[in-house]
Amino acid sequence: MNRAKSHFRSELAIIPPVARVIAVLAFALMQICLLVLLPHFVNRSEIPPMPFMVLISLVGGAVLGIIVLMIGYVNADSKRRGMNALLWTLLVIFVPKALGFIAYFLLRKPLLIPCPNCGTELGSDFRYCPKCGHALAPSCSHCGRSISGDYVCCPYCGKAVGATAT
Ligand SMILES: [Zn+2]
Ligand SMILES: [Zn+2]
Repeated sequence: MNRAKSHFRSELAIIPPVARVIAVLAFALMQICLLVLLPHFVNRSEIPPMPFMVLISLVGGAVLGIIVLMIGYVNADSKRRGMNALLWTLLVIFVPKALGFIAYFLLRKPLLIPCPNCGTELGSDFRYCPKCGHALAPSCSHCGRSISGDYVCCPYCGKAVGATAT
């Protein structure tokens, strides 16, 4: 429970500051439009009583703010997963009924992992670092195929597995 909570917090931390500012502005703008401007332009008898309007503008502003934060999250999250951030940001903004968000969370790639040797960001299916050649999975020292770390003999070439690169 606690871990899930801190995980959620660290995920929130990646939301870009720009998105946070826009979310607050969107919330404030909703309040100004519905509570300050609307009564000036529309006949007072046509709009719901004030307590209702306050409720509507608070909920509406909060929903709008959360949507902006989610767009910011997708933008930052797609970048750190090596996905096309611009494409996905536009998709979640313009595809209606939150289908862009659903598609994003279904299709997003695993997180990039830094190379333990040089720190280059690597795809989850990489077996070697393309920058420094560091082997990411144990491999047979004779034939080079990837094997489980606890094998004594290579199941492909049959030789004793000596020093396995890790
Ligand atoms: Zn490397
Ligand atoms: Zn082998």
